[in-house]
Amino acid sequence: MRPISEIFGSLQSPANVVITFHQKPDADAMGSALALYHFLTGLGQSVTVISPTNWASFLNWMPAARSVIDFESQQDRGSNLLRQAEWIYCLDFNVLDRTKNMEPVIRSSPAKRVLIDHHQQPRAEDFDFGISDPTKSSTSEMIYDFIIASGYPDKISPATAECLYAGVMTDTGSFRFTSTSASVHRMVADLKDRGLQHSVIHEQLFDNFLENRFRFFGNVLLNRMEVFYEYNAALITIPQADLIRYNVKTGDTEGLVNFPLSIKGIRLAAIIIDRGDERKSSFRSKGGFDVNTFARKYFNGGGHFSAAGGRNSEPLDEVVKKFKAALKENQQELNS
Ligand code: 5GP
Ligand code: MN
Repeated sequence: MRPISEIFGSLQSPANVVITFHQKPDADAMGSALALYHFLTGLGQSVTVISPTNWASFLNWMPAARSVIDFESQQDRGSNLLRQAEWIYCLDFNVLDRTKNMEPVIRSSPAKRVLIDHHQQPRAEDFDFGISDPTKSSTSEMIYDFIIASGYPDKISPATAECLYAGVMTDTGSFRFTSTSASVHRMVADLKDRGLQHSVIHEQLFDNFLENRFRFFGNVLLNRMEVFYEYNAALITIPQADLIRYNVKTGDTEGLVNFPLSIKGIRLAAIIIDRGDERKSSFRSKGGFDVNTFARKYFNGGGHFSAAGGRNSEPLDEVVKKFKAALKENQQELNS
C-alpha cells in the first residue's frame, strides 16, 4: 500500500469513483463517505457511494444519503458501477470481507483501491494506496485531514462539514472516549468557523426514534441482561423473536451494549444478537481489556482496543456458551 499523498495530484482529473464502507454502516462510515462524496464531486469527479447493506434510517438526513446505493437490493447496478470504476475508496474498514457480497466484485474490478481507516491490523496488501491510523478518532477525522492535506480546505462545504461532524461525534461517544484528541477539537472548531450547526445534528441522530425502540430497551434491560460480577463482565442476549416482537429495525440496537458498561465495576460489556442469518456480537470495554483481540479470537471479528464486534454462524445458545467459556479463559485479564 503506497502513501495516500501520492493520489493528491490526480484529484482534479475527472474519473469514475466508487466510495464504500463496512456492512450495516454507522454514522462514521456513512458520514466519512458522504463527506468524501461531496468533496470529490466538487472537484469534478463522477462519484457514487455504494453500501454493502441497508442502513439505519437515522442516517438519512445526511446530505446526499438518498443517492447511496444499497448493494443488496441493487446488485446489478452496483456491480456495473464497481466494474466501471477507476478508483474505489474503502472507508472505515480494513478487510474486504466486511463488504459482504461486494467483496468478489471489488476484487475483480480493475479500479485502484484506496484505504482510509482507523481500525487495527489492516490487510494492507489488498489496497494500492491508503492510510491506516488506529490512533485516529474516526474515519471522518481522517477524511478531514485528507481534504486539508490535499490542499483544498476551501472545498469543505456546509454539507461536507455536517457529514464529518456526525462521524467524529458518534465515534468519540460525543467527545468522551480517549481517542478525542486536541486535533479532534481543533477540527470541530474549524467546522464551526465554517458555519456548522452542531445541535441540529445531535437532534437528527439521537432524538428521532420511535417509541417501540424504548419498549424494546426496557425488555432487554429487564429480561435479557446477565451480569457476571466474578468476571467484571455483562452480557445482553437477544433472540430473533424479540426483534420481531418489537419491530426492531437496522440501527435500533445501536448503543445498547453501552448500558451494562455503566454498571459500577463492569469492564467488559457484550451483546449477542440473533439476526437470523448470523449471530452478530458487539464488545465494549474500559479499564484496559483488549476487545479487538477478544473479538478476533472467539468471534471472527475485530475492531478497536475498546470497541469491537464479530459474527458467528453457530446457533445463539452456542455463541453464548462460547462467550461464557471465553470469560473463564480471560478471568485473569478481566480481574487485573
Ligand atoms: P459494533 O460493535 O458497533 O458493530 O462495532 C464496533 C467496532 O468494531 C467498529 O469499529 C466496527 O467497525 C468493528 N467491527 C464490528 N464488527 C466487526 C467484524 O465482524 N469484523 C471486524 N474486523 N470488525 C468489526
Ligand atoms: Mn469508525
